Amino acid sequence: MPPYSPKIGDSLASLDTPSMIVDLDLMESNLAKLMSQLLPTGINIRPHLKTTKSALLAKRLVAAGAKGGCVAKLSEAEVMCAKGFSDLLITCEIIGAPKVQRLVALFREYRSIRIVVDSEEGAKAIDEALGQSGIGEPITTLIDLDVGLHRTGVQPGEAALKLARFVASRKNLRLIGLQGYEGHLQHIHGLEGRKKLCLESMAILTQTAEALRNDGHAIEVVTTGGTGTAEFCVTVPGVTEVQPGSFLFMDTDYRNAVGSHNYSNSLTILSTVISKQGPKTVTIDAGLKSLTTDSGLAECKTKGYVYGVLGDEHGSLTWEDEAGSGGLELKVGDRVEMIPSHIDPTINLHDVYYAHRKGVIEEIWPVDARGKVQ
Ligand code: PLP
Ligand code: MN
Repeated sequence: MPPYSPKIGDSLASLDTPSMIVDLDLMESNLAKLMSQLLPTGINIRPHLKTTKSALLAKRLVAAGAKGGCVAKLSEAEVMCAKGFSDLLITCEIIGAPKVQRLVALFREYRSIRIVVDSEEGAKAIDEALGQSGIGEPITTLIDLDVGLHRTGVQPGEAALKLARFVASRKNLRLIGLQGYEGHLQHIHGLEGRKKLCLESMAILTQTAEALRNDGHAIEVVTTGGTGTAEFCVTVPGVTEVQPGSFLFMDTDYRNAVGSHNYSNSLTILSTVISKQGPKTVTIDAGLKSLTTDSGLAECKTKGYVYGVLGDEHGSLTWEDEAGSGGLELKVGDRVEMIPSHIDPTINLHDVYYAHRKGVIEEIWPVDARGKVQ
């Protein structure tokens, strides 16, 4: 036995820190909320697995009603397939010879892989490589459409029609639909404003789908949406699929935008106070390598403390009241739970999830696709 090896049935108190922990009651309630809200609409739920990077959780989402999953990157798809989960849409464009070769190798084994393209160059390279592979079966392909995010995606109108004709003309690509992700709207505060802008993006998406159909293409899949917008996307006729990811665990950025009435923060980083730096300041063992800061600073789950970054490995917690007077005093050795500000890149910093119920570890899940950014 290694000197430290956490097991099922251990208490959170016995875990070393920093550790990524999941409150199973809260996570299950987030999942039940999403499914009960979205499944009755009949829309396909294809959760984005860039959040969890876990094949085990992908299977759990499917058991709850999801159909397939999305991954951002080809390397995530490779990991998920190897772990027995291959009903996947890769939502980023696959560009460059090394990636195209890897895609061909993956598709040879797993024919259920779906891809998106937004350029003739990209589509042509994949078509040619598949042609040379001798696989003899076209890969399921969606046109990625820019619905306002201006990240990837062909422009609506003539450009989309031209690309669709190009894809349809390639023997090794089978055009089945459109992806239009409105990522710029996910975190807009206020339900009404977010809904209005989302419906505008959905109009671009569904009108383009209609234009492609009128041009003779069989557009069966229209996929879109994230945690902040899925509830609006599913109300739009013509949308067939949504891709929420963060809802399972949430983060402070999403909580502030979407509101706590919706989903709870079910994942935290358990951390230890390792030094006292004054009457109202302590240092904890979670810094930039445990909690990302691109979307603001993490929050302590216990109210009253303010987090600050003290570098790669350290953070500070400060409080207002005099030490001891408001019951806020933290001492060396105390434990705190930190709520990440941005869930996806924070998970990517950790090897495993410790999933607990009321403080007792029930499951330990690897972050299978950790670091898979290619
Ligand atoms: N779809 C695509 C293409 C994405 O890039 C993302 C996240 O960035 C999502 C869906 C899921 O969004 P969220 O995690 O905000 O629910
Ligand atoms: Mn994110």
